[in-house]
This record gives sequence, C-alpha cells and structure tokens, in this order.
Amino acid sequence: MSEHSVQCECCRVNVQLIKQDDGAEFVRCPSCGKTAGREEALESAKAYAVEAVARQLDAQIREIARKSKFIKSKPAQRPVRDYAWILEGV
Ligand SMILES: [Zn+2]
Repeated sequence: MSEHSVQCECCRVNVQLIKQDDGAEFVRCPSCGKTAGREEALESAKAYAVEAVARQLDAQIREIARKSKFIKSKPAQRPVRDYAWILEGV
C-alpha cells in the first residue's frame, strides 16, 4: 500500500502527517485544513480503496456479461458512501 498516499477527499491532495509531542499522529489536508486522527484517516482510505476495487470488478463483470450471450449479470447495488479520506491512485 505504500505506493498510495492518503488524500483529502474534497481537495484530492496528499495529506500531511503531523506528529504531536505526546506521540499522537494526525493527518491534515494542506488545502482545506481538515484534520483527523491518523488511524481514522487510514480506515477511511482503506474502506474507500476496497469499494473502488469492488466497483472496478463490477464494471469488468458487466463488460464480460455484455459480450456474452450466456452470462446474465445484474448490476450490483452498492451503497454510495462518503469518504472523508481516500487513497491516491485507486
Ligand atoms: Zn481538503
């Protein structure tokens, strides 16, 4: 995962990692100033990545089904979620 950077969802810019004196780590968007705990941002970014991959798979399956007379595929219904933090390049 190291090739992917966590980004702010609204600004699409890489976040800054801020380490406090007490050891707590935060991410901060350099564009809009939004902050979150490092773990919280990572969880959001990971969930975003999982959903992004699932959407790509859905699209591939639909494309295969479209070309095949034998495979019938119903489009998967995936709830659209809002992610405050996303992964770059997913
Ligand atoms: Zn931002």
